[in-house]
Amino acid sequence: MEIAALSGSVFSGRQQAELQRVLYENVIRLKSDAVHFGVRSIGAETVNGRARLLLDGGGAVEGDVVVGCDGAHSRVRQSLFGPAPARYTGANAWRGLAPMSKLKPQHRQPLASTWIGPTAHVTTYPVQRNGEQFVSFSAQVDSPDWQTESWSERGELSDALKDFDGWHQDILDLFIESENLFRWGLFVRDPLDTWSKDRVTLVGDACHSMTPYLGMGVNMTIEDAYVLARCLEASPDDIEAALKRYDAARVERTNKTKASSLAMLGIFHSPELEKIDTARQYIQKEWSPDAVRERYEWLITYDATTVEI
Ligand SMILES: Cc1cc2nc3c(=O)[nH]c(=O)nc-3n(C[C@H](O)[C@H](O)[C@H](O)COP(=O)(O)OP(=O)(O)OC[C@H]3O[C@@H](n4cnc5c(N)ncnc54)[C@H](O)[C@@H]3O)c2cc1C
Repeated sequence: MEIAALSGSVFSGRQQAELQRVLYENVIRLKSDAVHFGVRSIGAETVNGRARLLLDGGGAVEGDVVVGCDGAHSRVRQSLFGPAPARYTGANAWRGLAPMSKLKPQHRQPLASTWIGPTAHVTTYPVQRNGEQFVSFSAQVDSPDWQTESWSERGELSDALKDFDGWHQDILDLFIESENLFRWGLFVRDPLDTWSKDRVTLVGDACHSMTPYLGMGVNMTIEDAYVLARCLEASPDDIEAALKRYDAARVERTNKTKASSLAMLGIFHSPELEKIDTARQYIQKEWSPDAVRERYEWLITYDATTVEI
């Protein structure tokens, strides 16, 4: 089968660079001219039974199918279904990377942790770069101020420290020691009820960008890609049927994940966390092993390799 283009990559972020390299090298091994850097798409269409990826600056690439995986601002999505306005969620996110060697020993454990508060929460996890250990963190804070949706917008330490005024020193240390700080607004778009049109479809944030509160954006993207590949393999001679099958297998699950992720904001940030007595009860109710299992089990027991297509 000839795939006209995979516009973009399945992963982003420094901590995912290693996985991205593995994918890239394997694609190149299968087809040495499969990847073209520095080419932007402006949309896709199906003409006379052929899928066409339209290129910025003119021209098009033709194939059996176009898969738009061009992220939350997807031009392929826009060309299929029109503009998808983004709504601000009322929360900003900070992201940083602090060398473990500069942090206290309690930050050096191989654990992902989430710190929760009345109007903010912080998730930390260890990552590695060139053999050096870091703590990667993302910190979400309620804010009426509207920030850009770009993930690569620099933030100022003084603003971060204002947002986390009164938080534990272990959290402040992350900001203080971070190599760079990024800050962006968290936005949501209405869910789509279909991702495919004729011979063009979508994968990942292009069709279901979501808030990061369940940490499921990449997982959903990988699941999409795997299930899509299975659907195309199952009916290589009928692409449109394969894409219908893909939609049927994936849209409901990802929309449920997207909605559940947004609902987590009301669980991470709670006024009950303001006082020790109500906080204790709140944690017992919302963060007991049973409550956590109920929120996560259906997400992590899904198997993209065997799910019915
Ligand atoms: C700080 C942060 C932490 C996160 N942590 C997690 C986590 O722990 N777990 C998790 O599962 N998810 C996480 N996510 C979400 C995750 O990063 C996304 O869901 C995931 O990257 C989506 O992959 P994608 O390939 O669909 O889109 P992207 O990773 O956005 O990739 C889109 C690609 O398309 C390219 N592109 C864009 N427009 C065009 C165009 N017109 N033409 C050609 N190419 C184009 C872009 O350059 C990019 O390479 C996090 C996100 C952020 C910002």
